[in-house]
Amino acid sequence: MAVNIEAYFSILNQAQAKHAQLIVVSKKQTVQDIKILYDLGHRDFGENYVQELQEKQTQLPQDIRWHFIGHLQTNKLKYIAPYIYLIQSIDSLKLMFELHNQALKCHRKIPFLIEYKISQEPTKAGADTKTLEMLLGHLTQCPNIHCQGFMGMGSVTHDDEVTKNEFKIISSKFLEHQSQELSILSLGMSNDYKLALSYHSNMIRIGSLIFGNR
Ligand SMILES: *Cc1c(COP(=O)(O)O)cnc(C)c1O
Repeated sequence: MAVNIEAYFSILNQAQAKHAQLIVVSKKQTVQDIKILYDLGHRDFGENYVQELQEKQTQLPQDIRWHFIGHLQTNKLKYIAPYIYLIQSIDSLKLMFELHNQALKCHRKIPFLIEYKISQEPTKAGADTKTLEMLLGHLTQCPNIHCQGFMGMGSVTHDDEVTKNEFKIISSKFLEHQSQELSILSLGMSNDYKLALSYHSNMIRIGSLIFGNR
């Protein structure tokens, strides 16, 4: 599968125009294709699977900023804790406490986002509102990790009204808690990033528009 360089620059420009960061989602893509974007200057890549990320991390340049965006099991955290740039998928107290444990072990302050469940789809992960507030309430107990904001995933739908309602929920939650510390709203994928950028997203995660369908 060829990398769509034109699409990459187009999306990058749209993100920059809105002061948003572009995370290129490279799950299931080869290190060769990732390297093409790296050579164009891109550094932020998102991965969903721990083992796949481990392999790529050793094979690719060390200044890549790896974002973990997939479902995480507590027993896998230790593998990525030493180098991960931003974990975007913390959605339970158990995961957050284990992340804090691992941060202590590798002597680094690990940044993360709370994944907020905004879609009704049963397959979607994320904290519900009560859990999200509970996680925020326990942050002071976790000085070695740093909550930088929220991540959300809209439903897979062609109905913009559904997506808009979901984006409204997370962007108002974000605005409620936004601060110098908590400043990231990671929202928007290939099919809905334009809408996300109009709902206060400042970090979009794009895979298939750049790499083609997985
Ligand atoms: C796969 C994935 C993306 C990218 O999705 P595309 O539709 O390919 O752009 C973004 N965010 C998360 C959490 C993902 O799992």
